[in-house]
Amino acid sequence: MKLDSKAMRHFTAEDWRVLTAVEIGSKNHEVVPTPLIESISKLRGGAGRVRHSISALAKVGLIARLKGARYDGYRLTYGGLDYLALHTYASQKVVYSVGNQIGVGKESDILVVANEAGTQHILKIHRLGRISFRTVKANRDYLRRRQGGSWMYLSRLAAEREYAFMRALSEEGFLVPEPISQSRHTIIMSLIDAFPLRQIASVPDPALLYGELIALILRLAKHGLIHGDFNEFNILIKEEPIQSESDSEEQKQPSKKGKEVEKQPPTSPQLTTSSDDPEATIENKVQITPVLIDFPQMVSMDHVNAEMYFDRDVACVKTFFERRFQFVSTQPGPFFRDAKKTVGRNGARRLDAAVEASGFSKKALKDLEAAIREQQEARGPDGELDSASDDGDYDEDEDEDEDDDDDDDHLDEQDDGDEGDQGASYNEHSEGN
Ligand code: ADP
Ligand code: MG
Repeated sequence: MKLDSKAMRHFTAEDWRVLTAVEIGSKNHEVVPTPLIESISKLRGGAGRVRHSISALAKVGLIARLKGARYDGYRLTYGGLDYLALHTYASQKVVYSVGNQIGVGKESDILVVANEAGTQHILKIHRLGRISFRTVKANRDYLRRRQGGSWMYLSRLAAEREYAFMRALSEEGFLVPEPISQSRHTIIMSLIDAFPLRQIASVPDPALLYGELIALILRLAKHGLIHGDFNEFNILIKEEPIQSESDSEEQKQPSKKGKEVEKQPPTSPQLTTSSDDPEATIENKVQITPVLIDFPQMVSMDHVNAEMYFDRDVACVKTFFERRFQFVSTQPGPFFRDAKKTVGRNGARRLDAAVEASGFSKKALKDLEAAIREQQEARGPDGELDSASDDGDYDEDEDEDEDDDDDDDHLDEQDDGDEGDQGASYNEHSEGN
């Protein structure tokens, strides 16, 4: 699915208010009855004005009338939720324009966005439930049994959780994208100017990089965490020139996020890549640093299946290094039982506890875990996406034009100011999160 921000600029404040009313109504109704939309949006023009907005929103596919519903009503589409999140970011002045989509997976869409100053960031839109819950029976049954097992609820949980982990890791000094904002099923983070390890054909010293990745797994463990999807797609390899005596003064300045690319002197090797295949060769003169991404599935070292997740992350690194770089470590392990002993050692802050304390209910976590496991199982053998089963029975009335991938779409901010004069219930629910 593509995010098309063009239609946004034609919306009036009333349209936004009605869209928000459908979102609020969605908390308790899968299909929000039209009279409820009218009463939540409380427009001055009354029911007539609300209906006018409803048809405008339905026309561009932000809300949809469900086929065969027992009563007259609408549900929010992924597009509608995308727009609400973008609207929040535009109001916060975090996003001014939406650029290219750089990634699409089963679990998310990744887009480059920019603020008014032109600084680029990454918008990650979680799409849990994009594929239907049908591949793994236990999870599917579990998710179906619970009423709220909807894509909206799960994707929002995934975004909130990913943002919470990114913040905790960033504060602790881990090399991860900088968390910038979060709204609904989306997050905004700094853009890392780097390729995934998946695309790197060779590195000067595989043993060194292997050691760093294992050390990263162990450092996470010390803080009570397991990444849970520690693979070559989720490790970005940042290159920086090895500093010489003469430029060391300049290099001491902390690098500004998103600007790393400008630091490259003309002599440094450029990575060129156009596909998923390993093409990039990193030469000796650069220093490489792994940056970890993708956190919604992170689990605590105290999780009942912690050992399995830990071993799987370690095995992932080992397998990849053997296949890609023909590197096999002479040391066995690391082993979970040893890592477990280091949790919290020397005053290491428990990040698992910090994130749990930020308010995720046990039930919500169980739902999210089931959905993420479902998505992971649906992947192909190599972490590749299994395109055969994409989009399943997730039918949305998508209203897209396909021609605008390359130009930035500017968000219209004309109705930002309106949020101040709206009723309490509207404000309470419409502000991002
Ligand atoms: P998913 O949950 O779908 O796997 P990821 O967070 O792993 O989503 O992102 C998918 C891809 O998008 C990554 O492999 C990477 O290539 C790119 N990507 C994600 N976040 C960033 C970022 N902050 N900077 C640069 N590239 C990113
Ligand atoms: Mg990923």
